[in-house]
Formats: sequence, structure tokens, C-alpha cells
Amino acid sequence: MNIYQHPTFEMACQQFDLVANRLGLSDADRLRLKAPKRSLIAAVPVRMDDGSTHVFTGFRVQHHLTLGPTKGGIRYHPEVALGEVAALAMWMSWKCALMGLPYGGAKGGVAVDPRKLSHAELERLTRRYTQELIGFIGPHLDIPAPDLGTNEQIMAWMMDTFSVHAGHSVPGVVTGKPVGLGGSLGRREATGRGVAYLAGRTMDTLNLPANGATAVVQGYGNVGSVAAHSLARQGLKVTGVSDALGGVFNSRGLDLRQLDEWVAEHKTVVGFPESEPIGGDALLLLPCTVLVPAALERQITAANAGQLRCRILAEGANGPTTPEADAILSARPDIFVIPDILCNAGGVVVSYFEWVQDLQSFFWGEGEVMDRLFRLLEGAFVQTLNLSRHEQISMRLAALSLGVKRVWEAKVTRGLFP
Ligand code: NAD
Repeated sequence: MNIYQHPTFEMACQQFDLVANRLGLSDADRLRLKAPKRSLIAAVPVRMDDGSTHVFTGFRVQHHLTLGPTKGGIRYHPEVALGEVAALAMWMSWKCALMGLPYGGAKGGVAVDPRKLSHAELERLTRRYTQELIGFIGPHLDIPAPDLGTNEQIMAWMMDTFSVHAGHSVPGVVTGKPVGLGGSLGRREATGRGVAYLAGRTMDTLNLPANGATAVVQGYGNVGSVAAHSLARQGLKVTGVSDALGGVFNSRGLDLRQLDEWVAEHKTVVGFPESEPIGGDALLLLPCTVLVPAALERQITAANAGQLRCRILAEGANGPTTPEADAILSARPDIFVIPDILCNAGGVVVSYFEWVQDLQSFFWGEGEVMDRLFRLLEGAFVQTLNLSRHEQISMRLAALSLGVKRVWEAKVTRGLFP
């Protein structure tokens, strides 16, 4: 699997090996479970506004096909690479299985900084990338969704490009679309709300009152901003937030409505009045009840895990904590980790609801979407907590064990094909 070599893929494999050891999997089963089923790398030529042509590189990895079509986000970020996408696809597999969804994991992306492209360039890039994926994606094959650097508009262009080829509208080919095109109510907010629901649920478990509790959020994007607002609604004071350009801090709590207005105008949290600037590294070390990393992988490392001052680490991002940091955190009973594949599963759960609604052309109210979401999150949280306590293992190992075991059992029952 040398072609997937990447620190994030190594990290996903290290996590998997711990689970495989615990489950006593054979070498052959380990390989079958680990190796991505298929991957696509495409040159994506795009005509730029100045008349020049730029060739971007696009990826899509489908990790396993055992339980249904594959599902996973599309990332636009300059550092997107095959190995990173493969790791994210593998985590999606364990996440979907943990949540009981009929999907294998997938992930895709383009190595590009979307902030440097005009609206028209972004549209041409998205349409050409989607064109390269024709035959590889589809409502019964592989269903993309938004991730870092992508949004509803990009999903709308993907859906439109795919539909043009099909000759009719195919809303079920992507999730995270605008509601007017077959998107689901509550999808945009689902991941962040799920993070806040599970953080609140953990506070109840630990008997921590919301009154006087604080939250810090790394990455004030879709997941981070919605999580911040939801935590604030639960009574927590959000004292620090950051984005790719820097962070802001106010010990009395940030006014999130004013912050949103600032971000809408300035495209960054940096410079927000009534706050002090704070560096990204220092932000993670702020004392708080709930710390939400909601940006990139490998943010909590051996270098800072020992210095975290949160009570709950609620992983909104995928893969924010390295295995070395995990080892340090496992010796810190003062920190409760809600692992990524559980904590941020709200997004794929409501994506699943969106897909079901699209296939049936029958749409649900927001209350129904949220009720069903919280019921699924609650079930997975209780199962993970029970296993973690019963077997005296970390919440991450418990969550991954539940997910991996379901995929493994399905592979054993079906045979060698998928
Ligand atoms: P987004 O693009 O909407 O927001 C990402 C935010 O992180 C932006 O504010 C960006 O400026 C910031 N950021 C980037 N680099 C940073 C850095 N080094 N330090 C601090 N902030 C930084 O993306 P998103 O959809 O909110 O995704 C965030 C994370 O959540 C990713 O790890 C993604 O895989 C994960 N996730 C997203 C969803 C979803 O439904 N969107 C679901 C599950 C998991």
C-alpha cells in the first residue's frame, strides 16, 4: 500500500492495528479491511479567468463496498493528497458502520486553495472534476458530500454536472445540496449540532453543569461555528475561536452573533473587536470545559497533548489527534475524549437522511430530521461508552472497535467479492 504513503494514512493504519489486535484479526483480514478498494486520480484542466489553463489534481478513494454504496466528503485544500484522502475514506468506513448506516467509506478532493479562485473558476473546476468522476460516483455507487473547503454551492454544481450526463435530475448523487435542489433541512448544521449534543451528553455523564462552563473552537467554519452556537445555546461561554489566519479570545465570552457579522464581512475571525488576538497553538491550550478541534488532522500531538487544559475533547474534525497524543491522553483521566468517528458523525447521518429522502422523493420536517439524528447519536454514544467502561479501553478504541467489527463481520459473511 505504498502508493498511499502519507502521515495521515499511517495514523489511520496505526489506529486500525490497535483495533485489529484487540479483535484478534488474521493478517489476511487486516489487509482486506485496511486496503482501499479502489482509487481514482485525475488531471483536472481548468481554464482560468485570465485565459491560461491550470491542471489541478483530483482524487476519490472508495474504501470498501461491503455494506452498500460508498459515502464521504469532497475536500478542497492545497495539501490534499492520495494518502490523506485514503485515510479519511477509511475513517468514514468505521464511522458509517458505528452509526449503523448502509455505506462504505469514501473521500475525495482537489489540491487547490479555493480562496484563491474566482466564483467562475471554482465552478469550472468543480464541473470538470465531477466530469472525471462520471462512472465512479452515483446514487447507488458513491455519494459525495461537502467537507473542508466545499459547500452547498459546490454540491449543486456536482449534482447538475452529473444530471446533465444522465439526461435527468439525479439529486441522490450528492448530499449537502441546497434544500431547494433536494437537500435536507438540518444538513448544514448537522455536524456541529451533533458535536454540541455529544459534548452536552458527556457533561451530563460527568456531572458538569453548563453554568460556568466554557468552550474553545479551533476552525470557525461550518462545523466549528455551528458547534460554537449550539454550545452557547446550551449555556456555555465560548471564549476562543480560530481559523486558518489566526484566533481571538475573550475570557468573558465572545458575542457570536457579532462575530458572524465580522466573519461575513472580513472572511476571518482575526481582528474581531472586543477580543484579544491569540495564536493557533496557544488557543488549543486555553483552559476550558469543552475543546472542539474543527479544522484539520493532526492538531493534538505529542507536543501539546500533555498541556491541554480542557475537560472534554470533542473532535469535530477528522483525525485531529495523533496516536502519540492518544497515548498521552489515555494517561490523563482528567480529559474525556469524544472520538471523531462518533463526535462528528452527525454530518453523515443527516447525509444519509438526505439520500433516503431523495430516493423516495419524500421530504421530512427539520424536527423529524433532528429527532432521528439525536436518537442515532445517543445510541452510538451509549454503546461506545458501555464498551469503553466494560473493557477499560479508550473511547476511541471502543468506537473504532464497534465500527471495524461490523465491517469485518459483513466481509466474513459475504465472501471475497466486496
Ligand atoms: P470549513 O471549510 O467550513 O471550515 C474549516 C475551518 O477551519 C475554516 O474556518 C478554516 O479557516 C479553518 N482552518 C483551516 N486551517 C486551520 C488551522 N491550521 N488552524 C485553525 N483553523 C483552520 O470545513 P468544515 O466542513 O467545517 O470541516 C472542518 C472539519 O470537520 C474537517 O476536518 C472535516 O473533515 C470535518 N468534518 C466535516 C463535516 C461536514 O459536514 N462539513 C462532517 C464531518 C467532519
